[in-house]
Amino acid sequence: MNGSGPLRTRSAIEGIAPYKPDRAPVAIDLSDNTNRWGAPPAAVRELGRIASVSARYPDAYSESLVGALATYAGVDPECVVVGAGSDNVLDAAIRAFGEAGDALAYPSPSFQMVPVFARVNGLRADAIPFTASGDVDVDALLAGEPAIVYLCSPNNPTGLPIPRATIERVIERAPGLVIVDEAYFEFSRSTIVDLVRGSPRLLVVRTLSKAWGLAGLRIGYGIAQPALIGAIEASRGPYTVALPSERAAAAALAEDREWMMRNVAAAVENRETLSRDLAARGWAPLPSASNFVLVPAADAAAIVSALRAAGIAVRHFAGLDFPHATLRAARGTALRISIGPRVEMDALLAALDAWKASCE
Ligand code: PMP
Repeated sequence: MNGSGPLRTRSAIEGIAPYKPDRAPVAIDLSDNTNRWGAPPAAVRELGRIASVSARYPDAYSESLVGALATYAGVDPECVVVGAGSDNVLDAAIRAFGEAGDALAYPSPSFQMVPVFARVNGLRADAIPFTASGDVDVDALLAGEPAIVYLCSPNNPTGLPIPRATIERVIERAPGLVIVDEAYFEFSRSTIVDLVRGSPRLLVVRTLSKAWGLAGLRIGYGIAQPALIGAIEASRGPYTVALPSERAAAAALAEDREWMMRNVAAAVENRETLSRDLAARGWAPLPSASNFVLVPAADAAAIVSALRAAGIAVRHFAGLDFPHATLRAARGTALRISIGPRVEMDALLAALDAWKASCE
């Protein structure tokens, strides 16, 4: 028997636009903060070997990869959950700890997918402005008794870390789950994973998509006390991480740590050099602890088009409400530029110079 009438979408899904970044091929893609030095060699080697096992399911909860990630993070395997990208871990965690109608509060601007994950899971997303000094407004963040608080350190898109003391204050006072997104922690060289042992409501989320150069494999992970990990696994479900991804990522974690650290060091050095080179040309990048810089520019949209015509993709942001004088002067519009090898940074600077010259 067929029913009649239109098929109804859950109301939480209505109005959620698909994520559609401009993915047209471009010579130098500095738009998504992935690893411009490529993928780790052991992962590439391992992927070449995998065809023979494709008829088999992976581990239901990726036990071997969990072990490798636990070693890397310096925690027990019971304290680690993996997902198909950290997006998947964030989504599963929000679903595990937020009832429909609850609030997820986050300092804004931050990672744009988080309010989307809140809404698709039926939660309200409360965007809380930073204080005038650029710190998290802890009182305002917690004023609505949010079931979930999300903090990103270093933050995307500003690149700035959140002070450890601020994170500690949020963890002490929050009534529910506190998520700290450390997607870029390898570049800031600072982490609050050591707080997990004493904080039953803390979840640290990380990814292999950035420093580890494995965005295409879609591997993210969470670190928390075992009860919290169990709830996220229940919410996430089994068999989420594909077998080739699991194998290749485990190989990289075992063998390519030096490769990763070398590229992180290069990214940090090139970030500082690029920031100085930009400042010398009159741009005012925000000081970054990550593998990208945010560059306020009133003409950001036009610059993005000019750079794309020159074969370089960067990300355009508008409406960023953050207390930085140049960003305010640019009415919240900015370019976010991922850091890559020197030759890519030189091409970027040349294209920016050409754009400036064309305006004169
Ligand atoms: N968190 C932050 C802060 C990010 O910038 C990103 C990627 N843009 C993610 C999470 C998601 O990364 P992935 O799903 O590739 O692990």
